[in-house]
Amino acid sequence: MSSSPVRHRTVPVRVGPVTVGGDHPVVVQSMTNTDTADALRTAVQVAELARAGSEIVRITVNSEDAARAVPEIRERLDAMDLDVPLVGDFHFNGHKLLTKYPECAEALAKLRINPGNVGRGSKRDAQYQAMIETAIRFDRPVRIGVNWGSLDQELLARMMDENAQQPEPLEPQAVMEQALITSALESAAEAERIGLPHDRIILSAKVSGVQPLIRVYQDLAARCDYPLHLGLTEAGMGARGIVASTAALSVLLQQGIGDTIRISLTPEPGGDRTQEVSVAQEILQSMGLRSFLPSVVACPGCGRTSSEYFQHLAQDIQSYIRQQMPTWKQHYPGVEEMTVAVMGCVVNGPGESKHADIGISLPGTGEQPVAPVYEDGEKTVTLKGEHIAEDFQARVEAYIERRYGQAG
Ligand code: SF4
Repeated sequence: MSSSPVRHRTVPVRVGPVTVGGDHPVVVQSMTNTDTADALRTAVQVAELARAGSEIVRITVNSEDAARAVPEIRERLDAMDLDVPLVGDFHFNGHKLLTKYPECAEALAKLRINPGNVGRGSKRDAQYQAMIETAIRFDRPVRIGVNWGSLDQELLARMMDENAQQPEPLEPQAVMEQALITSALESAAEAERIGLPHDRIILSAKVSGVQPLIRVYQDLAARCDYPLHLGLTEAGMGARGIVASTAALSVLLQQGIGDTIRISLTPEPGGDRTQEVSVAQEILQSMGLRSFLPSVVACPGCGRTSSEYFQHLAQDIQSYIRQQMPTWKQHYPGVEEMTVAVMGCVVNGPGESKHADIGISLPGTGEQPVAPVYEDGEKTVTLKGEHIAEDFQARVEAYIERRYGQAG
């Protein structure tokens, strides 16, 4: 899109069939929360996330049972005709698992290594090297993902000492942020020294505060051309998690920083894991960076429309669109750019409906019980009676067929 921010220049990195970085669109990714050792449940959840729009899915590989299950998860996804790339998340024992189960490495499209959780003291370098060598052997990219909750303590201690010697020492928070960036960059340089090509590395440096996250990524972007994986770690639940993630990522994306995003929401008990995918898509779509599904513009409602009728209609249209999108994507290219307006009364209803591709202005309290529909800015029909919702849905379907179908 012409009005999109200029992207920070990064090197494209292939992750299975998906490319992250360069001029490629910002990629949406997510992570499962099933026990990876349960191959069936994990494959089912990966499939749900992929169908919801996650273009890369990460699974934890935390035990021998999990490592053994990875090839089966891949096979199950292939059998479902889903080529979504799988990323293995390794901590503490990754070097052992990848050495003992090479078929696990082969089934993964990318390895995620956290330099803070690779090992301590003299063992650290050898264990890190073993993981990088596995990536080289299978020609897999690596995300070097540092996290302030598991920052390399030896590096942090060293940088704190160095800082203390300075004539004007930085605040501990600033040193911690610098240590995160240093950990990511030094680990990437080390991986390249071991032999991993430059274009097989993605970096992330996650923290749970909005302002520190913005500072860390701005600095990281200024200092390297590796693609950056953005995410606010431990974002939290519900509105808090969504708002904090959106605030942090929007600022960075607007500055052209970020090549792939993951929203780390804590689901409500029994909640839907795919919510993190919808939120990631909504962020990118709201910012005009990508289009995933038609946008529903709805007014908030006020005293002029005291019934819940229009809220139901807006909700029904929204869920209908989400449900239909996998099929529409196949048959109606471009439909994801469409806007549908559902408005509560005549104050802004006709105006907003005219700006949308298709829109309806419902009758407010005391208004005549009729609902004009606008298509491409022109009033095409006035709906009335008991079945306004069904009639409008049918108009939306006909509009899509006409405008985005083969005939269109
Ligand atoms: S369009 Fe009408 S009902 Fe909706 S917020 Fe505006 S005045 Fe209220």
